Amino acid sequence: MRILKRKQKQVSRKYEDGKIPIGKEGENRYKFTKTNNIKKLERELKLIQRRLSNIRLNHIHQTTTTIVKTKPSRIVVEDLNVKGMLKNKHLSKAIQEQCFHKFISILEYKSKFNGIEFVKADRFYPSSKTCSCCGVIKKDLKLKDRVFVCPSCNARMDRDKNASINLSRYKKSA
Ligand SMILES: [Zn+2]
Repeated sequence: MRILKRKQKQVSRKYEDGKIPIGKEGENRYKFTKTNNIKKLERELKLIQRRLSNIRLNHIHQTTTTIVKTKPSRIVVEDLNVKGMLKNKHLSKAIQEQCFHKFISILEYKSKFNGIEFVKADRFYPSSKTCSCCGVIKKDLKLKDRVFVCPSCNARMDRDKNASINLSRYKKSA
């Protein structure tokens, strides 16, 4: 990633170096030329980007295969939750979303191919806020609360575990 950033900077600097002002004075209009050097840098940049996206895709394939190989009867996934799920500091938000969608679609395809029921939970299904013991909904659950504590039955559970139990019981509403 660092190499990518450096290359991107190099390219924009080269463009900056070669700009020629056009139009009237103080107009801030410039002409940018693409030198051979820039072309070369852009080619290198493209190669790095392609290599990175191959690594990501490879990773998605490995992960989804591992999941499918455990032969579950059913897989339930949640729709994209931008706030809650994307927290990889090294990837831009756009790429994270793109990866997430790719992950879901490949998982769906592999599930179907292996005869595993694949369900996408409704985007508004409160998987985290519902108590998997008694069914009460805890409205004030914050994103930072890593442990779910039920206000009604006092059940205590890891947040993600609680959510996954709820999702495992998810039924599609007709
Ligand atoms: Zn409860």
